Amino acid sequence: MKYVSEFRDGEIARAVAAEIASVAEPDRHYKVMEVCGGHTHTIYRHGIKDLLPDQVELVHGPGCPVCVLPMGRVDEGISVAERPEVIFTCFGDMMRVPGSKGNLLEMKAEGADVRMVYSPLDALRIARENPDREVVFYAIGFETTAPSTALTLQRARKEGLPNFSVFCNHVTIVPPVRALLDSPDLRLDAFVGPGHVSTVIGCRPYEFMPEDYGKPCVVAGFEPLDLLQSVLMLMRQLEEGRCEVENQYSRIVPWEGNLAALRSMAEVFELRPYFEWRGLGFIAQSALKLSEEYADFDAEKRFSVPGVRVADPKACQCGEVLKGVLKPPECKVFGTACTPERPLGALMVSSEGACAAYYNFGRKSHERVEIGSRN
Ligand code: SF4
Repeated sequence: MKYVSEFRDGEIARAVAAEIASVAEPDRHYKVMEVCGGHTHTIYRHGIKDLLPDQVELVHGPGCPVCVLPMGRVDEGISVAERPEVIFTCFGDMMRVPGSKGNLLEMKAEGADVRMVYSPLDALRIARENPDREVVFYAIGFETTAPSTALTLQRARKEGLPNFSVFCNHVTIVPPVRALLDSPDLRLDAFVGPGHVSTVIGCRPYEFMPEDYGKPCVVAGFEPLDLLQSVLMLMRQLEEGRCEVENQYSRIVPWEGNLAALRSMAEVFELRPYFEWRGLGFIAQSALKLSEEYADFDAEKRFSVPGVRVADPKACQCGEVLKGVLKPPECKVFGTACTPERPLGALMVSSEGACAAYYNFGRKSHERVEIGSRN
């Protein structure tokens, strides 16, 4: 398949891996963090870890938007969904994320009108078709999906739809990465920058990594060779004593980002002063809410959402996994009390969650996978 198979060539992958091994200093341990759920998925699915030398460790950061949502926000969404006048719409992976008393799928089974949509525009159509019901879209995602929510709200405003609102949970990528770099728990050498988010925000926002923290960053694509080449680019920077932002995914990511998308976001959203992240606590200016101009479409105002805090279950170690302190199988309940069929934490639900990716594609160390053998 054009633009896919050439990025899954096993022979080239082995050659790039050999180059990484030749650049890595034998006595040094390198920790490279990726902050995109899509990268985590590719790493496990295609066995990237098996190809890397032992000195190079890939660490998974808070890159899955479903996973970083705290339980209180899930509970609040459920409380809106339970209202009899509401049709509650959300993406499919959100339906099974556990709240403290169940998930949206269970609420649906008990009679709540919860509907899965593929786009916020589907929610807008449902609002047009049901003028006597309140239609709420549960918006979630990093800067990748925020533009589609912004465009939908611009359209709703233009049409003057009174029965449509958005429960906004969009988050931004830079503040949690800063929080991780400020954390004494973690020593990192370099970052693989998120490809999807960067199609919108570009590469410039990552310049704080080399400038303020002395950490190189390479924005990467999602095929196995993209990731391997990105790791090689980072290793070369470390070897040569360079420290900068580079763009491996230039076939998709413009350096300055998508200016039209950024303009729409600037009109519709503003930064929240604080937002709670699962495992990372409250982080300043790390999430978006609807601007004053769009306040009439804000579900949190329309339904008086109180903003409750709910602690994760005691056995759950999602926070440590999200911070890259633990690997998924090091969680005490991984694969026993917590599985994709019966998830205890959000990381086991979303296909981009590190625990689900490891559960589905991880293997024992003696098992190896050939690049290109999993399509
Ligand atoms: S195994 Fe389950 S509880 Fe443990 S970190 Fe993963 S999702 Fe959270």
